[in-house]
Amino acid sequence: MIIGILKEPQGESRVSMLPEAVKTLLSWNTEVCIEADAGSTAYAEDNTYQDVGASIKSRDELLRQADVLIGIQPLSPEEIALTKPSAVIMGQLNALYNPDLTKLLIDQKRTAFSMELVPRTTRAQSMDVLSSMATVTGYKAVLMAADLLPRFFPMFMTAAGSITPSRVLILGAGVAGLQAIATARRLGASVFAFDVRQAAKEEVLSLGAKFVDVEGATEDKGAGGYAVEQSAEYLQKQKDTIHEHALKADVIITTAQIPGRKAPLLVEERTVRAMKPGSVVIDLAASSGGNCALSQPDQTVNINGVRIVGIENLAAKMPQDASKMYGKNYLNFLKLIIKDGNLNLNFEDDIVTGTCVCHDGQAVSPRIVQMQN
Ligand code: NAD
Repeated sequence: MIIGILKEPQGESRVSMLPEAVKTLLSWNTEVCIEADAGSTAYAEDNTYQDVGASIKSRDELLRQADVLIGIQPLSPEEIALTKPSAVIMGQLNALYNPDLTKLLIDQKRTAFSMELVPRTTRAQSMDVLSSMATVTGYKAVLMAADLLPRFFPMFMTAAGSITPSRVLILGAGVAGLQAIATARRLGASVFAFDVRQAAKEEVLSLGAKFVDVEGATEDKGAGGYAVEQSAEYLQKQKDTIHEHALKADVIITTAQIPGRKAPLLVEERTVRAMKPGSVVIDLAASSGGNCALSQPDQTVNINGVRIVGIENLAAKMPQDASKMYGKNYLNFLKLIIKDGNLNLNFEDDIVTGTCVCHDGQAVSPRIVQMQN
């Protein structure tokens, strides 16, 4: 069985597997082929893949020959047409939000797995690319803010006077938000955080940050630990509280998301206009509508000296460790579907079923089935 590791498109610097992960894959009695130059943007040259026993192929050869195609960004319809009808296509296909691609894969009776669909259960934690990439994103967002901020993060007592610590406000304390809190704390900032889930409060406090409470949030125990949409009244109360905190903040990092919905608007235009000049807003939800009214995807906007950075794929800005984590998540997942060097799709396994977009002309993942109804 040939496993093909694809080179990612322009602008994506991660690779789905570094040589270390490929070495493990090869030890499972498989043949692994790498698209030429696939790892160079993550600092893994072709020869480092060859050193562990993989061979290098052109994209065309890989698409036509591989039995399992592994990548991060999805293939185009034209490229899918080049692959073997029996090939298993894997990536972060964004299948729930890309109905045209999902339909095409179902209509063409393809077998496809979409890594963002890995169920967020304890057993699947080691395969969860969303958590891995959110960890990278939360860390990197703080470094980016610290770099842009015209002030120190930590407190300093110097002969030239004392410097008070910067004040950082984190909105949304999920995986990315918690990593942002931990990183900002390590840099010595005074950190405040806010989330609609009460479960997040304990985690925020345990990281040494202060929790901003806004009472009256709606929670749904059946939402798998995720947030749900809030009432208009609650959202207004929340925006007013954020406004008060924003006046004192040097940095705001927003990470609030609701699966399947537009990101909630938390930082209004009046709030940005009232912030101190020099302060920085990093909006990690910019690609799903933005938590800040003035953010633009992949752009930095300057409003009276307040810089608002809208970021789409921050994990790609730290490609080496992001690729290492991605590859490890992939390996843990592939362990479920490869046995003795061959494909072994066990649809009795909830992780296999939950991650599978389609097989044999049918939608498989309950989330895809639900999307179709
Ligand atoms: P996410 O990216 O969907 O959202 C980020 C955060 O935004 C969440 O904490 C959410 O509560 C918050 N949020 C949404 N609306 C908000 C609002 N109006 N105001 C403030 N905050 C708001 O979430 P995520 O980081 O991927 O994960 C969230 C939770 O899911 C985790 O904390 C955990 O409980 C659970 N989880 C479980 C597993 C697992 O068991 N394998 C893995 C990952 C996450």
